[in-house]
Amino acid sequence: MEGLDVPQRPEEREAYFMKEVSAGEAVCAQGEKGYEQAAKHFYHALKVYPNPIELVLIYQRTIPEQLFTIIMAMMAQEVKIKKEKYYEVFPPSDMNVYVKDFNAKNKTSAAEGKKKKKDTKEEEPTQEVEEVKKGAFLFAGKDFKQGDVIYTEECVVSSLLPGVDAASFCAGCATVLVTKEQVAIEDKVKEVEKEEVSEETLEKDGEKIEEVQETEAVIKGEKLQQLKKDQEKYDNQTQCPVCKEVFYCSSKCRDEHYPQIHQYVCTGGESSDESRPEKKFAQLLSSNNTIIPYLVGMFFGTLLDIETTKEKSLAMGVSTPTNKLSYLSTGNKSLDFTVWEHLERLSSSEKSSDSASDAEALSLINALFGSKIAGLSEFVNLERYVMIKEKLAANCFAFSTNLAESSDSEKSETSVAKICDSFKSLESSGSSANAVALYIVSSYISSASEAKVPSNVDFKFLDGNTKLSLVAKSDISKDDQLFVGIV
Ligand SMILES: [Zn+2]
Ligand SMILES: [Zn+2]
Repeated sequence: MEGLDVPQRPEEREAYFMKEVSAGEAVCAQGEKGYEQAAKHFYHALKVYPNPIELVLIYQRTIPEQLFTIIMAMMAQEVKIKKEKYYEVFPPSDMNVYVKDFNAKNKTSAAEGKKKKKDTKEEEPTQEVEEVKKGAFLFAGKDFKQGDVIYTEECVVSSLLPGVDAASFCAGCATVLVTKEQVAIEDKVKEVEKEEVSEETLEKDGEKIEEVQETEAVIKGEKLQQLKKDQEKYDNQTQCPVCKEVFYCSSKCRDEHYPQIHQYVCTGGESSDESRPEKKFAQLLSSNNTIIPYLVGMFFGTLLDIETTKEKSLAMGVSTPTNKLSYLSTGNKSLDFTVWEHLERLSSSEKSSDSASDAEALSLINALFGSKIAGLSEFVNLERYVMIKEKLAANCFAFSTNLAESSDSEKSETSVAKICDSFKSLESSGSSANAVALYIVSSYISSASEAKVPSNVDFKFLDGNTKLSLVAKSDISKDDQLFVGIV
């Protein structure tokens, strides 16, 4: 079942489908003794059919029950194999890290530990540690020197923090936007160009003068270049055409962010009716001082956006266009996991939830998304909503994308804070944070303070947006566990 090679091109898939179905029907006609073989063929056909669920329903109606049961068992088996392989193929090996799952392997690792103990005495302490640990954690896949970038990671969902000026940061990637004042460019260019290269040092010896003049010319050139960059940045900036209250650094960010979340929650438009779900949703967020319902909504929007793009390209027979989460794919089609499957495996916060506001948030999400996402309200019941909420609460990080602000002081460690269930506690924890986001791989990095060990990695936002770079804070050896400073 594993590594089943199915054709990728649409016309080949169609031929393959026809071949497998007719082969299945032929052996099925031989009666019960052909069922095992028939099940294999029908299962293969299922793998290339654009809408597998539809085909399962057809099978259910048209083939003998006993045969149908075998096919279902094969599907269940595939899901099981996939589940077991999760931490073998995730994170992708090019990220230089791996996850050790102490929940599932507790028994086996203890047994392994005993076995090893016979061979080498040094293994003893490892075994003890492994028995105490619970959860799944991130480890270095190779040696790193201090300052090395171990990997970069894009977020699944992100949001600017409440209270952050929307006109100052891109709603998509949280990068700092350029203001009109900053690009009063013509005046500034004139100003800089007027700056004469100093001639005061003329009387000193010739070499030095040249050096000074050169540096000043370089500074002048750099200033002009920066002004040009600002102007370009300003020209690329855009906003939501409907509400005009949400700003983007580029049309690229807008085209990604708008379908994933903003189209659902945009409060703009002709109607000023305060009872519109969009308005009520905005109200709920601000009165509860929370962004978790927004992040949950964005999670669904992102999930849907990625999956529909995948389906469309599959139906059209073109390769799936890359999206911001393509880096999570394993390169093995039968072992690719959906965003939902990634989220499911993250740890949860254990805080009890306020079910009254959860129920309100959920009903608003259903009102906002329901008409655009068919079947959402059946899928997202209160239990699932709370589950997603707790995963997000436990794993989102708040941080600053404002490079200018974070580099001038010792904020690098405090600018990364894990968001708590309720948003209020986060606000007190970091004054410089402006955004919050969920990262799948980085969610497996442990808190240094919780483990009472020094941190050995830093989260850096080197591009000044939500793209995270994991940087080695000290030298790290292969198989070291990774710890980040969290306040
Ligand atoms: Zn952006
Ligand atoms: Zn809008």
